[in-house]
Amino acid sequence: MKQEIPYKIYLKESELPTKWLNLRAFMDKKPAPLLNPQTHAPMTEEELSKIFCTELARQELDDTSRYIDIPDEVRDFYKMYRPAPLVRAYCLEKALQTPAKIYYKFEGNNTSGSHKLNSAIAQAYYAKEQGLKGVTTETGAGQWGTALSMACSYFGLDCKVFMVKVSYEQKPFRREVMRTYGANVTPSPSMTTEVGRKILEEHPGTGGSLGCAISEAVETACGLDGYRYALGSVLNQVLLHQSVIGLEAKAALDQYGVTPDVIIGCAGGGSNLGGLIAPFMAEKLQGKADYQFIAVEPASCPSLTRGAYAYDYCDTGKVCPLSKMYTLGSGFMPSANHAGGLRYHGMTSTLSELRHQGLMEARSVEQTSVFAAAEQFARVEGILPAPESAHAIRVAIDEAMKCKETGEEKTILFGLTGTGYFDMFAYEKFHDGKMTDYVPTDEEIQKSLADLPKF
Ligand SMILES: *Cc1c(COP(=O)(O)O)cnc(C)c1O
Repeated sequence: MKQEIPYKIYLKESELPTKWLNLRAFMDKKPAPLLNPQTHAPMTEEELSKIFCTELARQELDDTSRYIDIPDEVRDFYKMYRPAPLVRAYCLEKALQTPAKIYYKFEGNNTSGSHKLNSAIAQAYYAKEQGLKGVTTETGAGQWGTALSMACSYFGLDCKVFMVKVSYEQKPFRREVMRTYGANVTPSPSMTTEVGRKILEEHPGTGGSLGCAISEAVETACGLDGYRYALGSVLNQVLLHQSVIGLEAKAALDQYGVTPDVIIGCAGGGSNLGGLIAPFMAEKLQGKADYQFIAVEPASCPSLTRGAYAYDYCDTGKVCPLSKMYTLGSGFMPSANHAGGLRYHGMTSTLSELRHQGLMEARSVEQTSVFAAAEQFARVEGILPAPESAHAIRVAIDEAMKCKETGEEKTILFGLTGTGYFDMFAYEKFHDGKMTDYVPTDEEIQKSLADLPKF
């Protein structure tokens, strides 16, 4: 007899993954290496260790180990909020009257409100192991800063956060959550760093950007004894840690013999999507199974759909290593879009390469349609989604509606990365009909791409 699928599939604590999956190790053609911004030679472990913890520098460069052990201390922390539920969206299916079967992996069940805690705790653990005093970082919408603050307080580390100025002003409560966990929060660009002062001189009154806050955080870490820099997305190490999302989702689906046809996730720097697809893409790369993968990004910051595939700076201040990725140019300043976590100008090199090889699709969506999907979802599934997560909801609904037309019974899996309690200003704009859909022109993108490094 066929097993009935429950609304929520919870793995047992004992079924929590013991190893992360390193997707690059499954790729024949690897993502291009990070390059030294001065010499253009591939970054070495020694060079990266000046910016990141040594163990994380090692993970960053490891493109051959297929699995990497999750330290027990990290697994113990995971047990406080994981395994995360995999939800069968029966209510949404019913509301849409679609024959599609929709599942989502919910990562918002922790105080930081997103998947970012999965990597924050790993990065804080390695910093602690190395005997460091603390870490610096940037945060856009505030989710990453919150996650890292929580992780640092757990291990007794100092945490200095540069928060993109618009978010700092729009989201005072986020800032206070971080301070509750003991972090020091500075709006970026700030006068406390050389790069911040330079950006403020060139763009007075700027609301800041992730690329700019990254430069400030790196400069600060490099200038302080016993500090390293931590990044919440884009890097290979972050995708590695986030593979726990996909590993759990796949294990839960496997228990019920369910195989997704389409896997959808929002993509800012690409870490939650990279983590969600990891075990599925690994099967596809080995020819064991086939899946359709869709990355969803905002039309206002369309790196995968309209950017160039080229080496670029990861930050506005050009202090970080160069990464080959789909990019809009490191000077690209996205319009005031409300999905702060999706405002990054580039995309992680692994997803960029997978997209370049045609193994993953990308779509861009406009923010009013994203908020319409968020609201539709909240009303039937109960969870109030983060604007970032709602990008995936938008495309999941679109795909389910296509199934309604064609009668196909596809199984759709999407990543619900977090909750939107700190985004009510954006929801308010949407409800008041004051939300706009700014889409950059080709000229604007070309202008920004003209500053790509040439070598
Ligand atoms: C940061 C964030 C994202 C985007 O980051 P990725 O690295 O692309 O996953 C998506 N959703 C939420 C809720 C976030 O906080």
